Amino acid sequence: MNKIYPEDVLNPGELPNTTDVPQFDEVPPKQLPKPLSDFKQYVDSKFCYFSKPIDQAELISTEPKIAYQCRMKILVEKRSVHTDVAPHPWHTETVLGSSSLGRFFESTERSGEAIGNIWSDYQVNIPDGEKFHRTLTLTNSIYHTRCSNCRAKRYVPCTSCTKGLTYDKQICYNCKGAGQLICKRCKGLGGFRHTPKLTVKWSTRSSTFFYQNSFLHKKRIRKGQRTAFWSTRRVPWSKSSSIEDCVQSINEEVPDIPLQTYIVRDYTEKHLNPMRNKNNAMRRFECFIERMGFEEVHYTMGENYSNKRDSKLEHTFRFCQYPGPKGQNSIYENDYPLNCCGCFGEKVACYSSCCTIL
Ligand SMILES: [Zn+2]
Ligand SMILES: [Zn+2]
Repeated sequence: MNKIYPEDVLNPGELPNTTDVPQFDEVPPKQLPKPLSDFKQYVDSKFCYFSKPIDQAELISTEPKIAYQCRMKILVEKRSVHTDVAPHPWHTETVLGSSSLGRFFESTERSGEAIGNIWSDYQVNIPDGEKFHRTLTLTNSIYHTRCSNCRAKRYVPCTSCTKGLTYDKQICYNCKGAGQLICKRCKGLGGFRHTPKLTVKWSTRSSTFFYQNSFLHKKRIRKGQRTAFWSTRRVPWSKSSSIEDCVQSINEEVPDIPLQTYIVRDYTEKHLNPMRNKNNAMRRFECFIERMGFEEVHYTMGENYSNKRDSKLEHTFRFCQYPGPKGQNSIYENDYPLNCCGCFGEKVACYSSCCTIL
């Protein structure tokens, strides 16, 4: 048996005023918490980003984070010896009054002091600057050699004639009849002076490292507003100096950034190991650490949006708010789900990992 319902007669006066009912598409924007309203402003400023879902975003957390920029500079010294050779008078010894015999018996080299060890036997003060070179003449080690071309006779026989006359008994044009010519090699001086010169060159090997407990891009740390945190300048310094002792006075603010360990590791890997077997020396070590405090913000925009950059985060997204250039509040994110084609509307907007603009 069917139950019969009585007809409901509607009184228009009792019906709600439909113009007051909000349309589905026109949910009034919520009052967003400050980090999210800043974020919305950032997304709105980006070409191709689609910002509407942020109106419904929920703030999950805001955590303080730290980033450090560490600049390391090492003054590297290289030493080398080269010898300048210049013609120089050679006085032949005489034996029994004869220079011919003297020439036969004399040593062809008159030596100076041995140069010795170029690293340990010569003290050279290091410069204050970062790039410099200095050349020292090792005067005690100057030595002389006899010219092997003329054997210190200063003249060599003319090869175009015999005793100044050509085969047809004409005066030789080449030696003008002298039958000999000045030795070109020693310029008629009979020998050479060898002057050893020690060249010391300094250059700076520098590198920059970034440490943080968040995901801020290093370019952002570089551009952000940092404050001095720790610095050192160690002179003298060598490859056997203890980096561990040097970094002991660094105050580690948070356990997840073990600054001392990081600096020891990077110094060893990036500076000490590549230089260890090279013929050079470390003379000065400088390290400047700067700090930047910032916030990492986590938010969600509901089940409809999943993190495509890092699936472990599921429906959570994140961004950093840091003091940017000139101290202005800046935002860095790399996972906003609608960062591509948003200018074509909601249906086309999507995530693209390459659209994160730095
Ligand atoms: Zn000569
Ligand atoms: Zn000649």
